[in-house]
Amino acid sequence: KTRDPTPVEELSPADVFIAVKTTKKYHHTRLDLLLDTWISRNMLQTYVFTDGEDDRLRKRMGSHMINTNCSAAHSRQALSCKMAVEYDTFISSGKKWFCHVDDDNYVNIRPLVKLLSHYSHAHDVYIGRPSLDRPLEATERFGDAHTRPVRFWFATGGAGFCVSRGLALKMSPWASGGNFMTTADRIHLPDDCTVGYIIEALLGVGLIRSPLFHSHLENLQLVSPTQIHHQVTLSYGTVDSKRNIINIRGALSLDEDPTR
Ligand code: UDP
Ligand code: MN
Repeated sequence: KTRDPTPVEELSPADVFIAVKTTKKYHHTRLDLLLDTWISRNMLQTYVFTDGEDDRLRKRMGSHMINTNCSAAHSRQALSCKMAVEYDTFISSGKKWFCHVDDDNYVNIRPLVKLLSHYSHAHDVYIGRPSLDRPLEATERFGDAHTRPVRFWFATGGAGFCVSRGLALKMSPWASGGNFMTTADRIHLPDDCTVGYIIEALLGVGLIRSPLFHSHLENLQLVSPTQIHHQVTLSYGTVDSKRNIINIRGALSLDEDPTR
């Protein structure tokens, strides 16, 4: 067994800002499960970004429920609007690390803090899992006629990803205020791809790949049961009406806990 490298920075959960993207229709079906599990133990560093008021959720989370007032449509614009608010809220929070997850992600805080402690929050760090096995090829559009092909890697939002404060501050010209939506429009891509575009294509900072982030795009049965507690994020989903879930034994049966 290899020894872990020495951390470069003492880090505590309070240094990490976790943004959970959700939408009103998933408050009951997805968010409750997170509130009953990992969020309840990490309420102080977790912020939920949604698109509609909800008294029940407001009572449970207080100011950590953020109504973005973005459209509830699953459009590219609506999702970029939410990422823009996530970014601005992180910058105001003063925390050292920005981590984004979806509302079908489980976050293990201890491995997350341990992973991030191996980097300096003042350096340029973008860490997550690419969803493709090749760089994304897109077209940058400037004004009416001028276009240019661009290739870059991005971390898939469905597996979660993190950005250091040092790098997040450099993203400001393309990400703060209304700029994120303008940038997303310029390449016509979803929110997580736009983050990759700003970081890799515009700032020239490479994505650090981590196998500890998991989305339901991969076969979750392949996560070794003995390694589950070391993973930073997990997820669940359905493929061809078959469940894609981690292989874990526990007190609750598959019927009681279908997402594991
Ligand atoms: N989502 C959203 N608005 C919508 C639909 C989805 O903000 O209208 C969020 C959802 O809450 C989740 C993320 O987008 O955090 C991804 O949604 P989903 O898991 O349904 O899709 P997939 O993983 O297949 O991209
Ligand atoms: Mn999903």
